[in-house]
Parts: sequence; C-alpha cells; structure tokens
Amino acid sequence: MKWKPQIESLKAYQPGKTMEDVQKLYKLEKVVKLASNENPFGCSANVQKYLQETALSQAIYPDGYAKDLRLKVAEHLSVEPTQLIFGNGSDEVIEMIARALLDSGNNTVMATPTFPQYKHNAIVEGAEVREVPLDLKGKHQLGRMLKEIDDSTSVVWLCSPNNPTGEYIRHNELVSFLNSVPPHVLVVLDEAYFEYVVAEDYYDSLELLKSYPQLLITRTFSKAYGLAGFRVGYGIGSHEVISKLEPIREPFNNNSLGQGAAASAIEDQAFIKECSEQNREGLNQYYRFCEENQLHYIPSQANFILIDFGVNGDEVFTFLMSKGFIVRSGQALGYPNSVRVTVGSQEQNEEVIEKMKEFLKELKKTK
Ligand SMILES: *Cc1c(COP(=O)(O)O)cnc(C)c1O
Repeated sequence: MKWKPQIESLKAYQPGKTMEDVQKLYKLEKVVKLASNENPFGCSANVQKYLQETALSQAIYPDGYAKDLRLKVAEHLSVEPTQLIFGNGSDEVIEMIARALLDSGNNTVMATPTFPQYKHNAIVEGAEVREVPLDLKGKHQLGRMLKEIDDSTSVVWLCSPNNPTGEYIRHNELVSFLNSVPPHVLVVLDEAYFEYVVAEDYYDSLELLKSYPQLLITRTFSKAYGLAGFRVGYGIGSHEVISKLEPIREPFNNNSLGQGAAASAIEDQAFIKECSEQNREGLNQYYRFCEENQLHYIPSQANFILIDFGVNGDEVFTFLMSKGFIVRSGQALGYPNSVRVTVGSQEQNEEVIEKMKEFLKELKKTK
C-alpha cells in the first residue's frame, strides 16, 4: 500500500488510564480525574433539561448547517452566522484548517510546547513544521515566530491561554504581531480556555477580527461549558476565510445531540461566570500551596496549572494516581519535571494538594 511516508513517524493518540482502570489497579474507593481540563462542575442545568425534554430523532441525519446552534452562537458573539464554522470539537476545526491550507509545498509556524494537534495535522498533510520555543515563563515568542515566516508559510498557530503552560498573549503583543504578519498567512488563535481568562491586558479577539480578516479564532464547548463528551467546537473568522473552509467540512460533522446540548449551554452564561470564579479561587489554592512549598509554577489564565516538582513528573503522576488522583505528567508535555493539574472543585483541590504534600514529605525522606 502507498501510505503517506510521514505517517511512519506518527503515533496513535495514547489515551490515559480510565478512572475505572485506576480504581481497580489500586483498589481505591474513589478516583478524581484532573487530567484533561474538563469542567469539575459538569455543565449547565439547561443541558440536562434539554436532554430530558427532547424527543430524539436518531434515524434522521443532523442539521448539516447546525442552524439553531449557529444562530445562538452568532448572537452571543455579535458576529454574522456566516462567520462561524462548527467542528466535531475544535480538534476537527484544526484538522479542517490543516487540510485546506497545508501540503508538502509549504510550511507552518507554531510554538513549542503547545497543543499537539497543530503539529500532528501539519505532519499528516506533509507540511514543514517550524517550532519556536516558548520563553522561560511559558509565553509565545512572537518576535521569533515572525522571523520564521516566509513566502511559503501558510498557517501560524497561536494558543492563548497556551496549553500546557496557561500563559497568554498580551493585547499589545498580538496587535504588533498582526501588523507584521504578511497577508498570505492565516493566523489561527486557539482560545479553548477563553471563558476562564481574567487578565486585563488580554486582547479582544472578536474586535481584532474586524481589522484583521486573516485571523481565525477557535473556541470550544469542551472546557468551561462542560460538554467534552458531545464534541462541539467552532471557528470564528471573516466571511472570506470561513467560506473557503466550509467545503472541507463533512456535511454532518456535528451530531444532533451535540448541537442541541451546545445551543442550550450557551444560553446559560451565569453558569460560565460561576465556574470561572470558582476556577480563580481554585488556582489560588494551588498558588498558595506552591509558594508555601517553594515550588515553581506558571500563573495561569486557564483551568489548569503546571507545577514544577523538581523531579521526574512521572514520579509525581504515579504517586498521585496511587492515591486516586489522575493528573498529567509533564514528561509528554515538554516539561519533564512538572505535572499539569486541572483545577477541580474546592474539595478536590484540597484533597489533591494534601497528597502532593505527602509526596513532598516522602521525597525529603529519600533524599
Ligand atoms: C482541549 C483543547 C482543544 C480541543 O478541544 P475540543 O474538545 O476538540 O473542542 C483545542 N485546543 C486546546 C488548546 C485545548 O486545550
């Protein structure tokens, strides 16, 4: 068979252990997953109501234009319905961008470490990947990224807040970047954690879109909206950009249930506000713990925090897992001595912090 040669270098996505696996393995009563930046408070009660009250027509194809959801999102964001493209998660929007713009004749620029799907999809399409390291504080080096752009650059990927660091791009930095990017480059701004941002010098991406039609914003219902299992994400762009992408989209990429759930969720902004506030308090719990124990961490604008324990992150990960808390080891995230912890409920945060303290105590004993 004539597989694309670049596929040789790719690995299938490695799912972590499930909560059930961990529970059995360590004979635990309960397991808390703080590994995938899901919402610890679930989703809006509107969604439960929708699921209970809606008679599903499972034999009928979903609305291929996601019209109801589209109109609601457009209204919420004050954009035109034609400025939106929906994906089976924003993962699929990323895939569509790669399919539409990348091939072996061009290159794409991104930070590292960042969300892995930009690189993964670029490799599938055979494009040259140009990665620019984050600075020591976990921020994009936009000046250096600009220098990597040339006549063959097709897409630049920005992730803000960045996964896995939680750092963000400042308004002034983004504006001067956009002023310097040549017009043949699509700038993708991944805002999967937008709803959690509180920084005052964060940019207003929808406002910038009016002046910079080469910008494409991606957002998702998987994180703050608590609908990761339904797979709904979307892109927001100029008419020109969206109309180029639309033919790439599969006709029925968003299932009926996901469309309905997301449309119900976006109407409950009080839930999002409440979750965002709880998240801030949760982050403060981790900041205090880090400061009391002299651990380095990166202040976060997202719903996770990267904490440097000064030892192999796998050790911390395995210890916490044996106590019933699943986090992400930094080994696979480009921060080998760290773990990335999703901010949970106040109680979950307290509990995992207790276990982290135990880990530090045992570490001292062995040293
Ligand atoms: C989680 C995440 C996504 C993907 O979310 P979907 O569930 O596919 O919508 C995209 N970008 C970043 C940075 C993420 O962390």
